[in-house]
Amino acid sequence: MTPSLQIGSATVIALTDGEGPFFAERSEAFPNATAEQWDAADRFDPGSVTGDGRWWLQFRAFAIRDDTGITVVDAGIGPADGPAASWAPVPGRLPAELAAAGIDPADVDTVVLTHLHTDHVGWAVVADGPERRPFFANARYVLQRREVDAVEELNPQLREILIEPLREAGRLAAVDGEHALTRRSRVVPTPGHTPGHQSVLVESGGGLVAVTGDVLVHAVQLLHPEVAYELESDRRTARESREALLRRVAEAGGSIATPHLTEPFAAAGRRGPGGSAVPPGGGSS
Ligand SMILES: [Zn+2]
Repeated sequence: MTPSLQIGSATVIALTDGEGPFFAERSEAFPNATAEQWDAADRFDPGSVTGDGRWWLQFRAFAIRDDTGITVVDAGIGPADGPAASWAPVPGRLPAELAAAGIDPADVDTVVLTHLHTDHVGWAVVADGPERRPFFANARYVLQRREVDAVEELNPQLREILIEPLREAGRLAAVDGEHALTRRSRVVPTPGHTPGHQSVLVESGGGLVAVTGDVLVHAVQLLHPEVAYELESDRRTARESREALLRRVAEAGGSIATPHLTEPFAAAGRRGPGGSAVPPGGGSS
């Protein structure tokens, strides 16, 4: 069964495109994480470490369904010939996951791309003979304008195979800052991982879910938001965004939906001693 979280009249559905090992050692990916922090992270998320100590990660998108329509957040690692093929476990299975959740790509109203990394845009635009076309044929694709403007520095290939085809199809919606998607959901800027990174907040029936994107990429950054990820384009800003978003969700008693942790949903929950998050059901830290 497809994992999902009900929040008021909205449903947040986890769609796993694939899973596999990270290409670098964990100590290179998170150079300032301590042994104690790794112990805590591995207790919280035992599925994220292999027997030989490598980072094993999920590649996930989410769908948000409410009475006003369907939003998809991120587009996974993509097909065998997608832009993530050089490092991610392609082909992804997002089309089958959507079908299992009863979602026809043509019925998706909005696609939010949290940022322009290849493991988050894989199925956004696909090859169709010599052409490229939006996989979600009738959706508008929401990106922060700052992110679109940074495409050259992030990945010049994505300008050609993603941004230009979306623009030509009239599907690209470049927004500035907070932007309402539906009555119950909006994007909020969470910069740092990339210059124009954004997350999605869903609020319904008094509850809150944050679909984080890569504000945090590993449980070590959930338990210890001060831990930097090597590929963050601005570590200080990334940390500020992470701390602010997790605080906001914790204060609301809400949940986070993350692309790379083993479990798709987690409580940002109460804070334990030292300010670290306490996993659902309590923790030892
Ligand atoms: Zn990612």
